[in-house]
Parts: sequence; C-alpha cells; structure tokens
Amino acid sequence: VFYRQSDSDPAALAGSEIAVLGYGNLGRSVALNLRDSGLPVRVGNIDDAYRQRATDDGFAVLDLADAVDGADVVYLLLPDEVLPAVFGEQLAPRFGVGTAVCFASGYVLAYELVKPAADLDVLLLAPRMLGEEVRRAYVDGSGFLSYVSVEQDSTGRGRERMLGLASAIGSLQRGAIGLSAEQEATLDLFIEQSVGPYLGVAFQTAFRLGVEAGLPPEALVCELYMSGEMSRTISTMATAGFFESVRWHGLVAMYGGFLGTMGMDGEAMERHFREVLEQIRSGGFARKLQEEEAQGYPVLELIDAVTATDNPLTAAEQRVRAALGDPDGGP
Ligand code: NDP
Repeated sequence: VFYRQSDSDPAALAGSEIAVLGYGNLGRSVALNLRDSGLPVRVGNIDDAYRQRATDDGFAVLDLADAVDGADVVYLLLPDEVLPAVFGEQLAPRFGVGTAVCFASGYVLAYELVKPAADLDVLLLAPRMLGEEVRRAYVDGSGFLSYVSVEQDSTGRGRERMLGLASAIGSLQRGAIGLSAEQEATLDLFIEQSVGPYLGVAFQTAFRLGVEAGLPPEALVCELYMSGEMSRTISTMATAGFFESVRWHGLVAMYGGFLGTMGMDGEAMERHFREVLEQIRSGGFARKLQEEEAQGYPVLELIDAVTATDNPLTAAEQRVRAALGDPDGGP
C-alpha cells in the first residue's frame, strides 16, 4: 500500500499534544519538523547534552515519563536496545487511555520486547532516511520515504493519526509504504546483515588485493567510494532503474561486469543469505542480541578493534582528505 499527502487529513492531529521522547539523531529532526508543522511539541530526554540541545532549540524539556503525562501522541525515538526497559518501567504506567504510541522501528514490537496495553493506539512510522536528512528534506520540501503501519487501533482513529504524523514530519511529501512492524524489522535486519556485509568485505578485499598489486591506496579508496562515482551509480539505479543503469557504464564496464558476475559463486551467497534470513525470522538473532546485552555488549570491543583507525584504508582516506579536501565539505 502506498500513501501520499492527499491520503492524510490536515486536521487529524488538531488539538493533539505531541511528546517526542529522545532528542538524538532522529528525535531532534522529528521534533523540529512537527513544531514547524504547527503542532504543540514537548520533548522528553534524560539529563544530558541532548537535553541541553533541546532546551537551546526552544523546547519544553521534561524527564521521559513526565513528558508522557497528558500527551495524545508519544513518538518513541530512543535506541531500540534501550526501549524495552524504559517502556515497561517508566512509560507504560503513565500512558493515558487512547494515547497513540508511535515507534520509529519495528524491532521491539516484532520480537515482543515491549507489550503495549490494549487501550493504546500502536503506530509505526519508520523514516527511511538518516536523522539529519529528515530535517533537510522537510526544510527543502522534498520529503522522504517511510514505512508505516497501524499495529493496534483502540480508538478507531489509528490510521488518520498515523497519516497525520507522517504528513507532519514531512514524509508524505515523498510518500510512505504500508509495512507491518514484523515485516519492517525483518527487511531492515535482512538487508543490513546480507548486502551490507558483502559490500564491506568486497571493498576491503579489493583494497587489500589492489595494494598488493601495486595500485596506490589513495586511488583505491577514491575508486571504491571517495570519488562519489559509486554512490552516483546507486542513485542511478533509483532514478533510471537497476538494469537500465548498467547501460550507462559503457561497453568495457558492461562486458567486464558481466564476466565478473558469471564467475561468482552465487549459490554460496544464496545459502548464506538464507541462513541470515532464517536467523532473523526464527528470533535467533534477537535472542543473540539480548544475550549480548545481558553481558554488557562484549562484541563492542571486537568491533572497536576491527574498525580501529590505524589501518591502511583509513590512512589512505586521510591522505586524500588532507590533500584534496572533502567533496561535501566534511562530515
Ligand atoms: P540516538 O542514539 O541518536 O538517540 C536516542 C535518544 O535516546 C537520545 O536522546 C539519547 O540520549 C537517548 N538515550 C540513550 N540511552 C538512553 C537511556 N538509557 N535512557 C533514556 N534515554 C536514552 O538514536 P536514533 O535517533 O538514531 O534512533 C532512535 C530511533 O529511531 C531508533 O528506534 C531507530 O531505530 C530509529 N531510526 C533511526 C534512524 C536514524 O537515521 N538515526 C532512521 C530510522 C529510524 P543520550 O544518547 O544523550 O543518552
């Protein structure tokens, strides 16, 4: 199901008090967008630098549970790993009957890590856009895609409230796609655990072999991602089409890419992707993540070691930036 601006009722949230919980990457953009759409917004955040930022941006900022009191719509923009404890212990006792509780990711609902009471509306509004871009795309009017669903409709107004919120954060300028929380979580985890790792390993392997073959590391990181050619190629898939974009690369690239594709062990990749999907759908991945959390995330040390900045790839990037600057003006 696709939703556009014309599907939303501009009056859907009239008179509604909105609480945005979490003023992080996405929370800040969402709160600013909702306020600029004319809605009364208060922010809930723990006492830290983000809280100060919300105050500086002119919001009334309360502790998480206090922000829920009297709110008609509560948009939860806390990290997925934090939500289960905060939801059960602090927020659940404070929701009024008929409050619309909106999640930005389906994860905690899909794995029943939070169990909203039956007298709430439970909504999903998951932007497919980086937090800061959610603000930029609102300001320039381009909008951004989101996945949306009504997971529980206790008031009979769940759909109109969900679309009202999607419109007010600026998503419907571009459009939204209906997807259940379970589908959203599966999709998100599947692509980040299948295509993501393949790309990561492919880039690192090509870099290592290229250096071994005597190619300059600086040119390799440019070829792989720093020139922007690769990300333009992906943008072209979105505008021209996945297969059509192949034709834009010239005969040598097309022929070489075709030969390379034929030479790959596609069956091994498919077997691996199927295992990844099975782990996600059976709940195996979510259980592993919970065990990891119970032990204080020991894997983070390993990730820190793997992504340590003293490696040849990062050094090559730094040399390119030092010599030529950053094409986008830096992070
Ligand atoms: P961030 O980590 O940027 O911010 C989350 C907020 O939660 C911050 O205000 C943070 O404050 C606060 N927080 C962190 N730990 C705790 C805690 N223990 N108790 C209470 N508050 C805490 O998260 P994101 O904005 O990136 O993500 C929020 C949600 O949005 C997630 O569900 C995510 O899946 C979803 N989402 C995010 C997107 C993105 O681009 N970032 C895109 C689409 C969906 P502090 O860190 O100062 O403690």
